[in-house]
Amino acid sequence: MDKSEKIFVAGHRGMVGSALVCQLESKGFLNLLVRDRSELDLRDESVVAKLFAEEKPAVVILAASKVGGIKANIDHPVAFLLENLQIQNNVMDAAYENGVRKLLFLGSSCIYPKFAPQPIPETALLSGPLEPTNEAYAIAKIAGIKLCQAYVREHGANFISMMPTNLYGPNDNFDLETSHVLPALLRKAHEAKTRKDRELIVWGSGKPRREFLHVDDLASACLLLLEKYDSPEIINVGCGEDISIRELAELVCDIVGFDGQLSWDATKPDGTPRKLLDVTKLRALGWKPSIPLREGIARTYEWFLANYVR
Ligand code: GDP
Repeated sequence: MDKSEKIFVAGHRGMVGSALVCQLESKGFLNLLVRDRSELDLRDESVVAKLFAEEKPAVVILAASKVGGIKANIDHPVAFLLENLQIQNNVMDAAYENGVRKLLFLGSSCIYPKFAPQPIPETALLSGPLEPTNEAYAIAKIAGIKLCQAYVREHGANFISMMPTNLYGPNDNFDLETSHVLPALLRKAHEAKTRKDRELIVWGSGKPRREFLHVDDLASACLLLLEKYDSPEIINVGCGEDISIRELAELVCDIVGFDGQLSWDATKPDGTPRKLLDVTKLRALGWKPSIPLREGIARTYEWFLANYVR
């Protein structure tokens, strides 16, 4: 990529977008186009079209999504389906209409069937029924992949799609109702330690397994794919290792310094039993993650203490 090319980072206030902006700037990409939600509602087709017509970005990173943890997905399927469709339809169409040279779409590992083979290869897409707890979000992301591929096939656009595993890091959502498991556990362990509780309640059975990637590693994978990957076929982005929710809860408590008991709330759903991505394709491009899980969680806890705890 030319350092002077204009790059639109859609969703730059989010966890992924903010990590991307940081990494792009540190590598000398200074012609970044960003807009706050108050200035640009990506769900509004006309304002998105206007921005692209006026600004003519060369490259687009579509990191804007309505995201949330298992409870938010169960409670609000309409928003997860509708808003994600709106955002991606508007951005991809405006990118095509304005001759964007390359677009990177961020999907999700929940596009894969509930009982996909593990680790999950890219070929598992649409090979079986989805996990019901996040089906609406997954359907929207699958539509995004198919729209990218349609622009490639019909119009020769260079739109690529990557599927990140579960992400964590600075600027994550720490709201206990809507967050994913890792930020939720960090906050719960911190608050339990502060209150000197003897018990910390974790949702589900603790048996599901998840893979976690630090968002700075995700950002570096994004830059690599922008430089080196030009195929309409989806590509997985993960660290290649998973752990159980029980092991994660123990690790988080150790890092935070909470030494009480874990108790399990069986009234809360487990979700999909396992989500570990097959990252053979990405590894073949020469990429590997650089932030081990313990170090990444410790850094995220420091960020949480400095920015969230008031
Ligand atoms: P998922 O990967 O789409 O299932 O989303 P989550 O990150 O929200 O949940 C992952 C797993 O962690 C599920 O089995 C949850 O039940 C479990 N979990 C345990 N405690 C919590 C919690 O406090 N918040 C959330 N969001 N999940 C939790």
